[in-house]
Amino acid sequence: MSRCIVAVLIKSAVFGSPVMSLECSLHRARPAHFVCYECGTSLCDECVSTRVSQGYGGKEKNYFCPACDSQVQLAGLGNVMVPFWHRLSSVFLYPFQLVPLILTAVLSLLAAVFPTNILVSLGVWVIMMKYAYAVLIETGRGSLNAPGVSVELINQDVMQVLKQYLVFALLGGSIGFVASHSVMAAIFLGVLAIACLPMILMLLVSTNSVLQALNPMLFVPIIFRIGWPYLLMYLFLAFFMAAPAAFFAYLPVEVIPPLLYAFVISFVSQCYTIMSYHLMGYVLLQYHDRIGYVVDYEFFIENQGGRAKRKPKSAEEDLKTGLSILVKNGKYREALDKLLPFVKQKDPDWELSEKFYQLLNMSGEQDKALRYSVRHFEVLVKNNRKKQATELFPKITASPTAPPAAGSVFAMAGWCEEMNDFKSALNGYVYFTKHFKNDPLLPEVYFKLAMLLHEKGRKSDKARQILRGIIKAFPGHDLTPKAMQYLKAVG
Ligand SMILES: [Zn+2]
Ligand SMILES: [Zn+2]
Repeated sequence: MSRCIVAVLIKSAVFGSPVMSLECSLHRARPAHFVCYECGTSLCDECVSTRVSQGYGGKEKNYFCPACDSQVQLAGLGNVMVPFWHRLSSVFLYPFQLVPLILTAVLSLLAAVFPTNILVSLGVWVIMMKYAYAVLIETGRGSLNAPGVSVELINQDVMQVLKQYLVFALLGGSIGFVASHSVMAAIFLGVLAIACLPMILMLLVSTNSVLQALNPMLFVPIIFRIGWPYLLMYLFLAFFMAAPAAFFAYLPVEVIPPLLYAFVISFVSQCYTIMSYHLMGYVLLQYHDRIGYVVDYEFFIENQGGRAKRKPKSAEEDLKTGLSILVKNGKYREALDKLLPFVKQKDPDWELSEKFYQLLNMSGEQDKALRYSVRHFEVLVKNNRKKQATELFPKITASPTAPPAAGSVFAMAGWCEEMNDFKSALNGYVYFTKHFKNDPLLPEVYFKLAMLLHEKGRKSDKARQILRGIIKAFPGHDLTPKAMQYLKAVG
């Protein structure tokens, strides 16, 4: 096939591919791993809420939408994975990982040394097919590392490989049967079988059933559902096959010792088998939702590129993510409903209270915001949020609800002084004198007011008046002698 057609196919697979690129609703640059069909949110692996529950088979992880608390669906890993057409070189290098490299070298050596021993040839073939099948399954599960070789790998699940042989035998048998009637029909069937073979193998892994794998009503629609990328995968498989063929064509057969030649041929063809099965496994995973192949998301996440396990998120982090999504989508009402139980708690988190107050303002509920401002002010003071509390204070003076605690106003006015915001401090102390006429802190507040008026406000007359008021109203108070002294200093 010409280079031009390959380029067109790659282009159509990349740009016209039905593989959707779904982004996280909150992080636009990240692919979505889950979709919430309840509220239409797509979530990256960081945004999704993971909850562990005790199931029949041990601990179970379930995934929820932090915005609406509904269970979410996997978005399809094709949305998360690097498409196979961007991994050509990685697929090519796959058999050169340590384990498959040693295995192919040993098997090829055996095949080269005992070329006429049928038992050895059969053993080599069985082991290689068993390993290649393991590669397909392991890749299909989401691991890019080649599986290790063990006695179990060779012995276990022999049925799986037998089923594969059964598939080949049934395909070959039916072609042979057709050939006895019509050679043309047999050629046609043969071409069709070869074209569909990768999908048949992928279906075999997916369903574990020979009958289902060989059911054209199943594999033909899936091939069409995958579309152009299936053909592209086929081209890659052909390319991997063509590369060693070209290599052999240039091999100077007459100068190479026969043993080495047999070794190289066996080695290259085994590498090709491993590459092909790895590619099929990858395609199986990338299109798992179209093939109907059930994936283990946890295994995939842990093995794709060897990602480190993420720490489970706290309920508070989930809440914040959910709120951010709701706010981003303009769902202020839902965000307020979500926050309400938290701000009603005895000691609410000041950041959640701040968010609640902001959301009331953003949603146009100014009256409710004004009412809530007093409680929010108390939360801020209790949490020592000096800047936020002093900034909020002018609002609470207009609130129709009962004033905050006297101690909170006193503390806030003191913070204003610390921050050299004397005007606000003055307002705070004046507010105090108006609202807390019987509070034990009142003489101290008056004294601070007098000091501010004299030192910062240049209103010494007013300061004198207040100091005289303190001396007269609180004759036995500890502060009175101090007030007398200060009055003298003011002059
Ligand atoms: Zn949702
Ligand atoms: Zn996200």
